[in-house]
Amino acid sequence: MSRQVYINGKLVPQAEATVSVFDHGLLYGDGVFEGLRSYGGKIFRLEAHVRRLYESALAICLEIPMPEADMCQAINETVAANTIEDGSIEDGYIRALVTRGSGTLGLDPNRCSNPQVIIIADLIALYPQELYENGLEIITSSVIRNHPAALSPRIKSLNYLNNILAKIEGLHAGCVEALMLNHQGEVAECTGDNIFLVRDGALLTPPLDAGILGGVTRNAVIELARGAGFTVQEVAVTKHDVYIAQECFLTGTAAEVISVVKVDDRTIGTGKPGPVTLDLKERFHCLARQ
Ligand code: PMP
Repeated sequence: MSRQVYINGKLVPQAEATVSVFDHGLLYGDGVFEGLRSYGGKIFRLEAHVRRLYESALAICLEIPMPEADMCQAINETVAANTIEDGSIEDGYIRALVTRGSGTLGLDPNRCSNPQVIIIADLIALYPQELYENGLEIITSSVIRNHPAALSPRIKSLNYLNNILAKIEGLHAGCVEALMLNHQGEVAECTGDNIFLVRDGALLTPPLDAGILGGVTRNAVIELARGAGFTVQEVAVTKHDVYIAQECFLTGTAAEVISVVKVDDRTIGTGKPGPVTLDLKERFHCLARQ
């Protein structure tokens, strides 16, 4: 079905939502984005996503031509415009992005004008249910996460090649996700999800300075876990820690909370989604849909 896409202040039919071939978002991946989720028409942690979008933009010296509050409103309006009567976009996925705008074929961002603000609301594409029930098998990619001194993984930029290369390696190995290490050989995150381990009842997750995206779902799960009485440590984690963990799970806007039962052919814990993962998955499910 045709969607109404927000572009530069207007909702237009998707076929009319186009950008220039001179846009540096296209030419250089010069821009920032967010992936958000709506549940029953309500967007989960909208302000946190919009805050991260503006922080990403700040980090690349991109001025978004509207205040954060207007961005929130535009996202809400786009979701509302695409909510159809049978409710099929009630559980939706939203992509908000800002490009550097149309410029010359050279790199100079100062030659760009008119950053493009685009918001797309679509149906969510989830992992198959079977993977939620049985857990994921993943590999460690040989592609390391971007060195923070080259391109901070905290910036959610339109250049996702680092993650895409790791994803390709995962897919070649028959895995829908892949683990990425950082330049120090520590565990960073997966191609589109953050990672948590369970060891002796406590949760471990790499800290932001391991070179990861500060996931909105990661933050929500940390809060939920602490609220439920779990200890959560943001500490450096190695591949060895992953192999010997009792449980491992991933968090992300699209995935929510999903168990990992095998990494590099090592079975994690019992090889089935563990009790802590299932508990937090359920708590997150309730939080998101409340
Ligand atoms: N890491 C990366 C590299 C991602 O792309 C994502 C998804 N945006 C995440 C982690 C999870 O972040 P969030 O929970 O905000 O979706």
